[in-house]
Amino acid sequence: MAVPKRRVSKTRKRKRRTHWKATAPKLVECPKCREPKLPHRVCLECGNYKGKKAIEV
Ligand SMILES: [Zn+2]
Repeated sequence: MAVPKRRVSKTRKRKRRTHWKATAPKLVECPKCREPKLPHRVCLECGNYKGKKAIEV
């Protein structure tokens, strides 16, 4: 197994982590009730997913 030859310096570590940022959650509009919802998830306002009632609200 490959073993690192030397420790990554504080500067190098910090420089690498400058590219790691938090992103705002993505929101899409529910086609049924026009409420913002998370993509690929059941709408929490009307319980619809893919044009069908998936859960009771
Ligand atoms: Zn909805």
